[in-house]
Amino acid sequence: MIINDQHKFQAIISHAKEYGFVFQSSEIYDGLSAVYDYGPWGSELKKNIRESWWNAMTRMHDNIVGIDAAIFMHPTTWKASGHVDNFSDPMIDNKDSKKRYRVDHLLEAAADELVKAGKQADAEKMLTDMDTLLAANDFAGLKQLIETNKIKCSVSGTCHWTDVRQFNLMFSTQLGSVSEEASEIYLRPETAQGIFVNFLNVQKTARMKIPFGIAQVGKAFRNEIVARQFIFRMREFEQMEMQFFIRPGTQKEWYAYWKEERMKWHQSFGIPADNYRFHDHVKLAHYADAAVDIEFAFPIGWKEVEGIHSRTDFDLKNHQQFSGKKLQYFDTEINQHYIPYVIETSIGLDRMFLLTLCHAYQEEKWQKEDGTEDSRVVLKIPAKVAPIKLAVLPLLKKEGLPEIAREIMASCRDEFYCFYEEKDTIGKRYRRMDALGTPFCVTVDHQTKEDRTVTIRYRDTMQQERIPMDGLAQFIKKKMS
Ligand code: ATP
Repeated sequence: MIINDQHKFQAIISHAKEYGFVFQSSEIYDGLSAVYDYGPWGSELKKNIRESWWNAMTRMHDNIVGIDAAIFMHPTTWKASGHVDNFSDPMIDNKDSKKRYRVDHLLEAAADELVKAGKQADAEKMLTDMDTLLAANDFAGLKQLIETNKIKCSVSGTCHWTDVRQFNLMFSTQLGSVSEEASEIYLRPETAQGIFVNFLNVQKTARMKIPFGIAQVGKAFRNEIVARQFIFRMREFEQMEMQFFIRPGTQKEWYAYWKEERMKWHQSFGIPADNYRFHDHVKLAHYADAAVDIEFAFPIGWKEVEGIHSRTDFDLKNHQQFSGKKLQYFDTEINQHYIPYVIETSIGLDRMFLLTLCHAYQEEKWQKEDGTEDSRVVLKIPAKVAPIKLAVLPLLKKEGLPEIAREIMASCRDEFYCFYEEKDTIGKRYRRMDALGTPFCVTVDHQTKEDRTVTIRYRDTMQQERIPMDGLAQFIKKKMS
C-alpha cells in the first residue's frame, strides 16, 4: 500500500474525466472551484454506493427507517444546532499573498514536510501541540506555533501572518422575492438536523421504539476554504447519515456497536482491512462526548471517510428549547420520559466514491507469450457497485451475431446494468470495459449460433471460459454475490 502518491492521485483524476466518471462543474466557463458533476458512469457508481449504504442501514435493520428532508430549513434550526455560533474553522491569512489557510491544514502540511525531511519527532510534537491548542481554542497560541516553526505561505513564500480568526462555513441565501420581506436562510451544512427536527414525526408515524434509527441521504453545502483535493473536499456534496436514538446512559455500548457495524460495511467491499483505521478525535465538536473517524489510506495520505459521533442529547435538547415543543420519549419499559441520546454515523458519499476509485485504479503491465509487453488500466471496482455489470459484445457487426447479442441484452437488462458495444476490435472493447470497471464481458461468435454458448471474460483475471448463454443473468448474479 503506497500512500502519498500524488502521481497516482493525478492519474485517477484524469481517468475519472476521460472515462465519464467526474467532470469539473461548468467546465466550459473554466469551472467552479471545488464543485463537480458526475458523468454517465460516475452517477451510476454513486447511485450504487448510495443504494448499498441505504440497504445496509434500513433494509437490514428492523429498527431503522429512512426520510428525505428538505435542504432549506427554518433558520432557527441552525441557531439551535450551534452552527451559527460554532460551525467555523480557525483561519489565517498571509498578508503578502492574501491567501487564506485553515490553520490545521497549514500545520499538517508543514508536518508532512518535516516527515519527508526525516524529522518525524518534530512533526509529531507540532501536531500534538496543535491538537492541544485547537482543543483549548487558543488562537494566539496557534499563531505562535506557526511563527515559531517558520511556516511559509506556498504562494508568497513569506511568514507574514494575520491573527487567527474563525470563519463560518455555512452558505446563506434569501427566502422570499422582495428583499425587505426576505429572511436569511442557510443551505444545510449537514443532513442530520433534518432528522432531529423530524424525530417525533417519525417515531410516532413509524411506531418506533427506542433504540431506533433514522437514516437519510442528501446534499450538504459548506463554504470550504481549502478545497483543492478533487472530490475529497467539495463545497456541494452528499452525506449519508444515520441518527440512532437511545436511552441515556447506554451511549458507550451503542457507540462501540456502531463503530464495529460501520467498519463491517466498509469491509463488505472486499478492500483489505489494513487500508482502514480508526482515529479518535482529540478535539471534540461542540455536540459530542466521543467521536472517531474511520480513515482510509488514500493516495494523498490517511484521511477521514466517515465519522461516528456520540452526540448526547445536545441536538434534541436544544431544538426543544428553541422551538418550545417537547421532544421527549416515553419509555414504557422503565416508565420514564426522557430526551434520547444519539449515536450518529456520518459518511460522505463523494468521499466513499473517491475511496472506491482510488482502491480500484490499477496500472498493470505483463509480458505476453511472444515476449512483448502489454499493459492496461483497470478499475477493479467491487462488482456489486460497478456502474456496468455486463458488457455484451458481438464479435462481428453482421452474420446474425448482433441479433443474438441483443437477445442476451433483453434477457439481462432487467436484472442489472448491461452495455452493448459492437465497435472496434474485441481487444479494444475489453480494454475499454476494464477502464470502466465492468466485471464481466460476454462475446457472441459463430459458435454461439450453433450451440448457444458465449465466451465470458473476467475483468480481474482476464481469464475466459465458455458458458451457455441461457441462464446468463443467474450465472452473473451468483458470481456477484
Ligand atoms: P473534515 O475534517 O474532512 O472537514 P468533518 O469532520 O468536518 O470533515 P463531518 O462534519 O463529520 O466532517 O461530516 C461527515 C462526513 O461528511 C465526513 O466524514 C466526510 O466523508 C463528509 N464530508 C464533510 N465535508 C465534506 C466536504 N467538504 N466534501 C466532501 N465530503 C465531506
